[in-house]
Amino acid sequence: SERTLVLVKPDGVARGLTGEVLGRIERKGLRIVALKMLLAPRDTAEQHYAEHEGKGFYPGLLDFITSGPLVAAVVEGERAIPAFRQLAGGTDPVEKAATGSIRGDLALETQLNIVHGSDAPESAVREIALWFPELV
Ligand code: ATP
Repeated sequence: SERTLVLVKPDGVARGLTGEVLGRIERKGLRIVALKMLLAPRDTAEQHYAEHEGKGFYPGLLDFITSGPLVAAVVEGERAIPAFRQLAGGTDPVEKAATGSIRGDLALETQLNIVHGSDAPESAVREIALWFPELV
């Protein structure tokens, strides 16, 4: 099995969708093996989204992800990384996310797309170490 890093972003927490997201993860058969709520420090947010530095949406993305509490989880199971990406749906909740996915069912705007999930094993290792240094 593998592990992935999931964030319920500040929009999801503010809208009261934390339980909805965690429930979908559990109903899929994935296991939540670590969980916490925190206000993301600026430097953690910068490291998390380092690949987007220089893009037009990057400053707004940092402001958004640090704008309120988020929920971080380590999720484990068979093919956990693609399994959660499937649960989340595509980045653009209208154009890309299928109905039935978290974003497809619950979001309208690309920035405010409720969740993050690691996109590859290397990102998962990096992101779990970043958000859960106490686990590594
Ligand atoms: P995440 O990494 O959060 O799971 P993702 O892998 O689906 O999302 P990325 O392309 O890595 O998408 O973008 C990271 C995040 O940046 C998106 O989830 C979204 O919140 C925001 N974002 C991406 N593209 C745009 C855009 N064009 N305008 C505004 N925000 C964007």
